Amino acid sequence: NWEQILNKMKLEYCSSNISYNTWIAPLTVYEVTDDTVYILVKLRASLEHIEEKYLLPFKVCIAEVTGIEYEVAFVTDNQTVIQEKKDNIIKKNRVNTLFEKANLNPKYTFDTFVVGSNNNFAHAASLAVAESPGEIYNPLFIYGGVGLGKTHLMHSIAHFILENDPTKQVLYVTSETFTNELIDALKAGKTGSELAMTKFREKYRNNDVLLIDDIQFIIGKESTQEEFFHTFNHLHVSGKQIIISSDKPPKDIETLEARLRTRFEWGLIADIQAPDYETRMAILRKKEELDGLDRYHIPDEVMQYIANNIKSNIRELEGSLNKLIALSNLENKPIDISLAAEALKDMISPDNNRPVTPELIIDIVSEHFNIPISELKGKKRNAEIVLPRQIVMYLCRTLTDTPLKAIGALLGGKDHASVNHGVKKIENELKSDEALNNTVNIIKKKINPI
Ligand code: ADP
Ligand code: MG
Repeated sequence: NWEQILNKMKLEYCSSNISYNTWIAPLTVYEVTDDTVYILVKLRASLEHIEEKYLLPFKVCIAEVTGIEYEVAFVTDNQTVIQEKKDNIIKKNRVNTLFEKANLNPKYTFDTFVVGSNNNFAHAASLAVAESPGEIYNPLFIYGGVGLGKTHLMHSIAHFILENDPTKQVLYVTSETFTNELIDALKAGKTGSELAMTKFREKYRNNDVLLIDDIQFIIGKESTQEEFFHTFNHLHVSGKQIIISSDKPPKDIETLEARLRTRFEWGLIADIQAPDYETRMAILRKKEELDGLDRYHIPDEVMQYIANNIKSNIRELEGSLNKLIALSNLENKPIDISLAAEALKDMISPDNNRPVTPELIIDIVSEHFNIPISELKGKKRNAEIVLPRQIVMYLCRTLTDTPLKAIGALLGGKDHASVNHGVKKIENELKSDEALNNTVNIIKKKINPI
């Protein structure tokens, strides 16, 4: 398979035979572990050049040939260098585990965040908080519309803090998770066990940094606001950093209790606006670089076309680029303006009064649970997928007038009976399961924000 990988490197990443023969052809595999391919560079002097130029291409080619996303490390046959690399990788894995424990997406860091006039204040505030958590702006309250980078910034702060000091306790959750875990703890409490509530409090109070995303979704729930109020106070008096995001500033969240509103205004409030054209272009270019899309040589005018047409949501901006590349691969067409027009034709931004369709429901549920659409439409029957799939069925049935059979067809050919079963199941569970109610309501708000 090494042959195949080298061949791919030659075809896709080497500008000439000479560069291939000089740099790539002499490389051999030194060792393959569970997650890393060690590539042996015989000529020590070429190590730096190869690392700089070919690390990412190798990652991509290896992933494409083997189907596994290996880390890639270059080694020379000097043992100390090899040991150093291994130590580094072990260290990196340890930090990665911390990131995972804190619920962080490894892609969302300051390095990958493009700063523009729309977000430079929020970015600067986030950096300041990341550098001295608990010391300057507490809480930090970030607000802005959907898909403008709030979650990305919050994860960046958390990554930065953990990288600086891995002993810090950092926890990122959505307000939905906070609410649902509280509901479950309270329910367990009713049956006589105080332990669940104690555990809940421990989880949220024993943190140096607590990040709560999309706080707008805990509004209007008295018990949740009450508990959150105490969590907030507990952390705040002990100088622990709190970071909150929302789609609106505190003063505009009508159902927010006054005492919470006041507290949210104690620290710093920073907004993120829609990106201007320049920033949209910079974000597209950044994504091209990060995802290794350079090899598609997307023409400038195509990038400009996308940046001109998708204005108010960065997630859609990225989505249209992905769609363009998928289309070009699938239909074997060159990447040009007319293909871009095809890719963009059904990208509707949420503020254009989009109609509620089964497709929209599928999109939003997929994003909400972070499950690919293909899995929702697939055949897997594990609980993590079955529940979201049934929620899609239920929402399609109650929010649109799509017949059961058509819903089944949209979900990859489920029959009428299983769609009916799914709808009934959610209907039933909603009667007693308060956490599920909360989740379904949040998804409904995402479908229909007003
Ligand atoms: P929000 O939480 O405000 O709805 P996200 O943080 O989820 O938005 O951002 C949506 C997508 O756009 C993510 O993939 C994120 O990485 C990307 N994104 C947002 N802002 C930026 C930025 N300034 N630079 C690079 N990518 C960004
Ligand atoms: Mg978000």
